[in-house]
Amino acid sequence: MVVNLVQERLGASSMAEQVLRTIGPVVLLGPPGAGKGTQSKRITEHYHIPQVSTGDLLREHVRQQTPLGIEVQAVIARGELVPDHLVCDIVAWRLRQPDADRGFILDGFPRTQKQAAWLDSFLKFEFFETGKWASWLPIVIRIQVDYNKLLLRITGRRTCPTCGAIYNVHSNPPLVDEICDKDGTKLVIRDDDRDEVIRERLDTYERQTKPVAEYYDKLGRLVTINGDQSVDDVSAAILKEIDGRACGVASGTEVKGN
Ligand code: ADP
Ligand code: ADP
Repeated sequence: MVVNLVQERLGASSMAEQVLRTIGPVVLLGPPGAGKGTQSKRITEHYHIPQVSTGDLLREHVRQQTPLGIEVQAVIARGELVPDHLVCDIVAWRLRQPDADRGFILDGFPRTQKQAAWLDSFLKFEFFETGKWASWLPIVIRIQVDYNKLLLRITGRRTCPTCGAIYNVHSNPPLVDEICDKDGTKLVIRDDDRDEVIRERLDTYERQTKPVAEYYDKLGRLVTINGDQSVDDVSAAILKEIDGRACGVASGTEVKGN
């Protein structure tokens, strides 16, 4: 189990301290295929804070053919970014849910400088100034992986449409070909994980999301992790950063240990 593995490595004191304190906002940055989704799920398991994946939220709108889903599906299919105001509205709605009170992991957001600036003011007004958290500064973790490895990771990615589990035909195959280990559902390839779209997404990352990393770097808030290690080693490096930086005690939102 990741929790045990990381506790062993960090020499963590007690499970309750590790798992139940206020973590605050965690941002995972990185190109498509870097491992943001994979790592978000592990951080969620460890700290019991929700993963907020704008990609997953948008895909769900497309799947349900909501007015927003219909509006954005062609943009996603081309590998371009959905307009900032639409994504920020979805994020605001999600972060106002009560399960986000001790913190959350933003996976795939912010992806533009406008989104980053919006996030800073949202966190300040909704979490810091309301007295929920001691700080509004997110822990920003960039997962870095070599371009050619990203291509291999994305083309090998398979996901479970039922539980969201992420597999890879090369590095993390399911026990039975194309079937989810957890619930037996047939795995799918994402529509935008096709060759021509993958390149567009990687270019979009270079043009529009790299400046976000620079924005946080200039503010002294960026931590870069080598994503070209085993999933367990990347998890251990990320949890170590979060343990060292979590934003402090929230008033009135403490959760008791079990
Ligand atoms: P992202 O959310 O950044 O697009 P994912 O978490 O979906 O990335 O990972 C992309 C693919 O790479 C998946 O198939 C996943 O199983 C695989 N993967 C993730 N982390 C690693 C790793 N450290 N080593 C090898 N493969 C990985
Ligand atoms: P990846 O695994 O490639 O990092 P995601 O699942 O995060 O991809 O996103 C898939 C697509 O959803 C993106 O290519 C983009 O079209 C749209 N999207 C996701 N997050 C955002 C965002 N923060 N801003 C704009 N578009 C987004």
